[in-house]
Amino acid sequence: MAVIRRTLQSVLMWTSLTQMNDSPKEDHSAFRLLFDARLNKGMAFTEEEREAFGLLGLLPDGIESMAVQLDRARLQFDLQHSDLAKYQYLSALQDRQERLFYALLRSDFDRYMPIVYTPTVGEACQKFGHILRRPKGMYLSVRHKGHLAKILRNWPEKDVRFIVVTDGERILGLGDQGVCGMGIPVGKLALYTACAGVPPEVTLPIVLDVGTNNAGFRDDPLYPGLRHPRISGDPYFSFVDEFVDAVQEVFPRCCIQFEDFTNKHAMPLLLRYRDKVCCFNDDIQGTASVAVAGLFGACRMTATRLCDHRLLFMGAGSAAVGIADLFVQQLMSEGVAESDALQRCWFVNSRGLVHATMPNLPDYLQRYGQDVSQLKLPAGAAASADSPLKNLSDVVELVRPTAIVGVSTVAHAFDERVIRAMARINARPIIFPLSNPTSKSECTAEEAIRWSDGRAIVATGSPFPPMHFGGRLFVPGQGNNVYIYPAVGMAVFVTEARRVTDAMFLCAAKALADQTTDQDLSVGLIYPPVSSILETSVGVAIAVARLIFKLGLARVPEPTDISQFVRERVYDPGF
Ligand code: NAD
Repeated sequence: MAVIRRTLQSVLMWTSLTQMNDSPKEDHSAFRLLFDARLNKGMAFTEEEREAFGLLGLLPDGIESMAVQLDRARLQFDLQHSDLAKYQYLSALQDRQERLFYALLRSDFDRYMPIVYTPTVGEACQKFGHILRRPKGMYLSVRHKGHLAKILRNWPEKDVRFIVVTDGERILGLGDQGVCGMGIPVGKLALYTACAGVPPEVTLPIVLDVGTNNAGFRDDPLYPGLRHPRISGDPYFSFVDEFVDAVQEVFPRCCIQFEDFTNKHAMPLLLRYRDKVCCFNDDIQGTASVAVAGLFGACRMTATRLCDHRLLFMGAGSAAVGIADLFVQQLMSEGVAESDALQRCWFVNSRGLVHATMPNLPDYLQRYGQDVSQLKLPAGAAASADSPLKNLSDVVELVRPTAIVGVSTVAHAFDERVIRAMARINARPIIFPLSNPTSKSECTAEEAIRWSDGRAIVATGSPFPPMHFGGRLFVPGQGNNVYIYPAVGMAVFVTEARRVTDAMFLCAAKALADQTTDQDLSVGLIYPPVSSILETSVGVAIAVARLIFKLGLARVPEPTDISQFVRERVYDPGF
């Protein structure tokens, strides 16, 4: 009530100001309260509030609890005929009654998360120009270069703490979606709040509009962004530099999460800013953390150590290299020599097996270029000028990995031959098809289980349903960074951390893995269930907050009880 009263006062002030320039006769401030998503309680306004704010007669007479409003929202959600329609329903609910939206998400993560996030958010981005209603977040266009700080001040909240920003060039595995990629920052930030408790008013989704190379979009009259090809090189980097500087100026306590940049920009941008401002790249660091957590779980299932494993990555972009780098860091912290740790990571990219003499290896891949002379190559293979091996099942036979990690966006890349080869080599093959959305997954969870005769340890990027095989229940884990970035974000929010470091992501991986129970493991689940993600994320946030204080990176004094300190700050959507 106090919050509503305070905000209503500002609504009143604003109304009277506009009325001075407009028609001075009517005061619509109470009515406006019903259209302010952050304050609108819908039918839950009490009799007292209705009297106090002039809402009598503007609502039906009944007064409803949150529980009743949730029932109505569920009913309306279920009436939608497709996942995209469900996405639009939830998006409109967020615009209308923010608290109800978050209460609904939290009431059943398994049901609502695949709609606001992967896989449905992918379709929403592809059709964004067509389904656009009320815009969310901010669009910073390259046309506005030189004025970004001024434009950022147009955002109504003055203490923004989290920006998720994309330039839309590599949205999930769907390629260049231009400004239509806005669905990703919006969805990711909704999960900061729903899954880990970061208050929604401190979050801001942003798209940097630098043009699009998606010719279909440029020809579509409903495409809402700039219609020229993407800028690149120095003009691109100087635009992002201005954006990062503007954020420091306008929102000095803000953390920037870089999201869905293509690999030619993702790593260079991270290296450019990570030691200068509070920022991270979720595709690189968040994915790495969740994958390493999955490997910790797999180690528990197989009674092995991390250093017993050899990873083969299908894809050698941001996600793959991020996972490998964190895996190597963890092995080194366990006493493995760097050169040995590096030899445990193998990559296949679109040119084939990555090796030391492969021409034009990007800088970030150089240290993973393996010496293939140690492999028994098939006759004639070494003659290839580029890569000696292109076929994934041949690579599996030669490299003999314990785990294959799919981050290539190539659907069906883990075919029956590949998985059967993994199952021949390993008693418990680790199969992680992490590409999103579902249509890009390297295999389904069911295929991995079936072709390995029920022996695979599986985590998938997008959700797959539980299944039975050989009379046993299998629950595929969702190897998705949603287990990590909201929790790390919550820790950064409460501590006002100055920087985000890899140590925090390793800490998050361990804290996540520690929360997987033996019962989870017994049904093949290497992460805690998505249904309990709020509690899991708070646990991860507490561990990361502890580390932030220990590293001296916090900008607030260390409390005596860090756990309570975090828990007290978790956003509660209740009225
Ligand atoms: P990226 O563009 O940086 O890298 C893609 C890589 O795949 C590149 O190295 C490319 O050479 C390789 N590739 C493309 N075609 C190939 C082929 N035919 N054979 C072998 N390799 C091929 O993208 P990224 O950021 O690394 O993301 C890759 C995928 O991982 C996306 O689908 C993304 O949605 C998914 N992802 C999932 C999570 C998660 O939490 N599960 C997190 C981040 C990314």
